[in-house]
Amino acid sequence: MRHFQRNIGIMAHVDAGKTTLTERILFATGRLHKMGEVHQGTAEMDWRPLEKKHGITISAAATSCAWKDCDITIIDTPGHVDFTIEVERSLRILDGAVALFSGVSGVEPQSETVWRQAQRFGVPRLCFVNKMDQAGADFFATLRAIEARLGAKPLVLQLPLGGEGRFCGVVDLVAMRALRWDGDSMEPVAGPVPEDMLRAAADWRRRLIETVLETDDAAMAAWLEDENALDETRLKALIRKAAVHHGFSPVLCGSAYRRIGVHPLLDAIADYCPSPMDRPAIAGEIPGTGERAVRPPSADAPLAAMVSKVQMSRFGALSFVRLYSGRMSTGHVVANTATGRSERIGRILRMHANEATEMAEAVAGDIVAVTGLKASGAGDTLCDPAAPILLDGFVRPEPVIAAVIEARSAADQRRLAPALAMITREDPSLRVSVDPQTGQTLLHGMGELHLQICAESLKEEYDVDVILGAPQVAFREAITARVVVDYTHRKQTGGPGQFAQVKLVFEPLGAGETGLVFADATAGGIVPAAFLPGIRKGLRVALEEGGLAGYPVEGVRATLIDGGIHSRDSSPLAFELAAKAAFRQGFMEARPVLLEPLMQVEIATPGDYLGAIIGDLQARRGSVRSMEVKGGVHEIAAEAPLANLFGYVGVLRSLSQGRASFAMRMGRYAPLPAGLAGGVIAAAG
Ligand code: GDP
Repeated sequence: MRHFQRNIGIMAHVDAGKTTLTERILFATGRLHKMGEVHQGTAEMDWRPLEKKHGITISAAATSCAWKDCDITIIDTPGHVDFTIEVERSLRILDGAVALFSGVSGVEPQSETVWRQAQRFGVPRLCFVNKMDQAGADFFATLRAIEARLGAKPLVLQLPLGGEGRFCGVVDLVAMRALRWDGDSMEPVAGPVPEDMLRAAADWRRRLIETVLETDDAAMAAWLEDENALDETRLKALIRKAAVHHGFSPVLCGSAYRRIGVHPLLDAIADYCPSPMDRPAIAGEIPGTGERAVRPPSADAPLAAMVSKVQMSRFGALSFVRLYSGRMSTGHVVANTATGRSERIGRILRMHANEATEMAEAVAGDIVAVTGLKASGAGDTLCDPAAPILLDGFVRPEPVIAAVIEARSAADQRRLAPALAMITREDPSLRVSVDPQTGQTLLHGMGELHLQICAESLKEEYDVDVILGAPQVAFREAITARVVVDYTHRKQTGGPGQFAQVKLVFEPLGAGETGLVFADATAGGIVPAAFLPGIRKGLRVALEEGGLAGYPVEGVRATLIDGGIHSRDSSPLAFELAAKAAFRQGFMEARPVLLEPLMQVEIATPGDYLGAIIGDLQARRGSVRSMEVKGGVHEIAAEAPLANLFGYVGVLRSLSQGRASFAMRMGRYAPLPAGLAGGVIAAAG
């Protein structure tokens, strides 16, 4: 029989104890045979040396373990704000999350950002208040912060037994018993609730019951009739319902380091986290049709899956895949609707901390590692070729920043290209290009830190030492007017000549449309169909090259309205050259402008710093879109040019004494003010 499945992420601020907790879980579930300590650098999950150095988890690899009748897959979510895309990708593949807090430092700005993201993606959360053994740990203060700063709806399931140095266990409010841990044991000893805690325990239990009964009228009526009708099993079912469907967060506590509370946390994951089957159907588009489709979380529906991560490992390149519906077997051919290519599934592995088990088949709800995928990157959709779907929101993000990347030595130079090829598959929000003017290699990404981390992983993982230049904004170009160009390409050089005539209309695309939209509006095939791909290619190349300052041109509708051929000298190449030249001519007449990336910035700050932060944003050409106060925290949504956001992490930290947090993502491209555009064009000259 198949076990219950739980796919969870552990979300935490750096240093809250995520690595330690993960390790304890793997030990408790028999996946590790000796416990490593983080400070000794042996924790199994953190096998990437780079992550250790940064103290942050960049990769979102999945590791599986079993607890009672549950298969638990832990998806490692990155905690750093600069990796918003990775955080989002990992949130989309998990069904529930454990939000980990330090009982000493409480709710930190980064936890707020990740908590809000989880909320946006509708991922139910359990809270674990860790480090209860440390001096200064305060369960109730942390609980208040969880409520006030995160706007959480907590369900307190445990109270701490003894504090700080004397912390020795928890009171389990569901079963009304005390659980104590002695020495190094993971296994608690159950006993009666101590006399001096009976009152508090009864109060908190009543609060818990009253809260969960709010979500169930029938249970409420039965309880009002007879309080004893609510036994432990029924109470657990009500907590599960409140947590999975009503946005409540069960709160537990413990000390990962001293192994206290780990077993009850595993029980809570099994009891109160959603199963993949509790999740809503996943939606997407049928590629090329604009039609919508959904896939229910069922093994009997057609395959729909997402690649969440590609990692180098000792098994070779591994693609971590989440199946939302259907099944997938070794040797199967699947369609990648993001790239339009098909892929053959090699081995299917369930990864456990330091080993893997091979599976013949994976089904809806599974998160597995797959070998053999040749060209699939993180975020791509894999599906049944007979029932294609492109899952929503998994578009490959366009990089907004670039920097020159150079190898330090000739030996590094030789290794650079293959290493870059692998790293861009691991992280499709990275791109590599060559500057046509200088011949230098450019690395494109989503932010400053993103590029720095990439440079460092080149060194640590691929042994390639690189120098990264100063970051530059990735501008775009666009036309703002409609023009008609009649262009004839003619060449006579002794041999076969070239002839192509095109009459093209160029106009800006509407809002929300991007790229090139080409249409042939001539009547009766004035330009034979065989030459049209030449025109399309010529336009694509010309758009890529840009005309003002060498940046790609965004959003052009090109319509062929007339043309002419020569019976002998016309060819796809001649039409390609004609289209390219026509665009170059038309572009300069169509009132071209430079566009810059505007980022959507979300800032959460205590009220004290609001004025300073907004003033600073305005000085950065930013504009505030909305402001909200939630539980004493001010949330600012703003839009600001990327060019003025370099180093913003540090600025915000100093403006708010480290208390404000922010997340940014690419918003849209907008015209660069004329005063600034001149400088960019001159620099490109
Ligand atoms: P991460 O950055 O969230 O992965 O945190 P780590 O697991 O690396 O823990 C950070 C530090 O806190 C390490 O030195 C751990 O030994 C320590 N630590 C983790 N959990 C606890 C705990 O429950 N109690 C105490 N006293 N220390 C802990």
